[in-house]
Amino acid sequence: MIQLSAVTKSFAEQQVIAATDLTIERGEFVSLVGPSGCGKSTLLRLIAGLETATSGEVTINQHVPANAETAFVFQDPTLLPWRTTYDNIRLPLELLGRTGAEPLAKIPAAIDLVGLRHEDARKLPRMLSGGMRMRVSLARALVTDPQVLLLDEPFAALDDILRQQLNEELLAIWGQRKWTGVFITHNVAEAVFLSQRVLVMSARPGQIVADVPIQFDLPRGAELRASGAFAA
Ligand code: ATP
Ligand code: MG
Repeated sequence: MIQLSAVTKSFAEQQVIAATDLTIERGEFVSLVGPSGCGKSTLLRLIAGLETATSGEVTINQHVPANAETAFVFQDPTLLPWRTTYDNIRLPLELLGRTGAEPLAKIPAAIDLVGLRHEDARKLPRMLSGGMRMRVSLARALVTDPQVLLLDEPFAALDDILRQQLNEELLAIWGQRKWTGVFITHNVAEAVFLSQRVLVMSARPGQIVADVPIQFDLPRGAELRASGAFAA
């Protein structure tokens, strides 16, 4: 469970996040939308422990965020250019000192999970397409089995078709892993498609102005027609 209690954040004189209370339950997948510059990335970085709050408290499962339990996916995949796909995905395991056979066995599993082929494992980032690089970035985030997955506009640079495909795959992976997730996007349709709850932020200073539950079990068009709902 992610909990923010009266969290604020200022950079120098500028208050970027107004006092914010927020609870995200374990296994919930929440989207965060709002205008550019309103503080979405800052809020996510506070949850990740990459920034410290100016006041208030951020906890994950009742304690200060620790890097082994949260994973972050950035808009720019930030892969190390001199490392192969396999070695980029291995990096967080190395940083956590997990170098035994059991953790390393998670690398091919992560490669499968994100839909990469095993021959891609030996390639350097420059030999991969943008969509494949994003898949590597996602695999790198998932390989440590994080409890909390934080995604900052991961698909913003991709074309619409690839973006929709990755959204569907992300949802399928979420169905298997059931992590607690926060997904930043500018795209409201994407937020509604992916998550159970959409948080809307406004700017100056950044604050959550709406918290909207999304109903998943809307009947599909064909079912609606079959049910006679459209009968004259
Ligand atoms: P976008 O949608 O464009 O990514 P955002 O909602 O993610 O925007 P943030 O990146 O969180 O917005 O930035 C919010 C505000 O905080 C901006 O005014 C930005 O200039 C400021 N800010 C963010 N990081 C820093 C920093 N390290 N130092 C100073 N100001 C910062
Ligand atoms: Mg941002």
